[in-house]
Amino acid sequence: MKEKFIKPEGHTCKHSSTIIGTLSIGTGELDQYGFWEHGCYECARAWEKQYPEDGEVWPFSRETLNRWEKEKAERLKVDPINI
Ligand SMILES: [Zn+2]
Repeated sequence: MKEKFIKPEGHTCKHSSTIIGTLSIGTGELDQYGFWEHGCYECARAWEKQYPEDGEVWPFSRETLNRWEKEKAERLKVDPINI
């Protein structure tokens, strides 16, 4: 795995792969789907910056969610406000 990941100062978060094919980063218990009990936005954003090739990391940023909503709306040809 990525041993050189530089965590934000003071973070002890761990990462895991999830059933939806993304990474998740956080603390606490890991659930059966690969998501941490307490997702860490700071570490997720730090990972995305350091390893852009890994794509989006859970917990996803608002920006990512907005973009996905728009892409979904494009495919379904609906108004993002109503989904
Ligand atoms: Zn963290």
